[in-house]
Amino acid sequence: MMSETPEAPERSALWAPAHSDCRPRRVGKSETTTRHGDWRLRQDDGPDVDPAAYVLVCRSEAEDGTVCGAESGPVPTTDEMREWARKHEWNHDDHRSFRLLADVAMVMVPEVEPL
Ligand SMILES: [Zn+2]
Repeated sequence: MMSETPEAPERSALWAPAHSDCRPRRVGKSETTTRHGDWRLRQDDGPDVDPAAYVLVCRSEAEDGTVCGAESGPVPTTDEMREWARKHEWNHDDHRSFRLLADVAMVMVPEVEPL
C-alpha cells in the first residue's frame, strides 16, 4: 500500500523558508507568520551603499555563429543601459539580444514597520 509522504513535490512547492532559523511557513497564508513577520526585498537606496551598476552584454550572433559579446560597461541607470542598447542596435543591424548583469544593493524590509 502506498502512503503519502509529507514531502511530496507538489506540496513542498507551496512552502518556503522565511528565515533560516524559523520554521517554514505557508506562502500566501496570512494566518501563519514567523515571529519576524513578513519581509519584502527592495533596492537599498541608503547613502552608505555603492551605487547600482548595470552591464548589458550583446549576445547576438553573426551568420557564422560568432557571438558579438560587446559590453556597455558599467552604467549607473537603466535609462543609460537602454540608450546603449539603442545605439548598439543602430550600429549593428539585428543585434537585439542581450544579457543584463546587475550589481544592485538590496535590503529586506518589514512589510509592517515595527511599533
Ligand atoms: Zn552586438
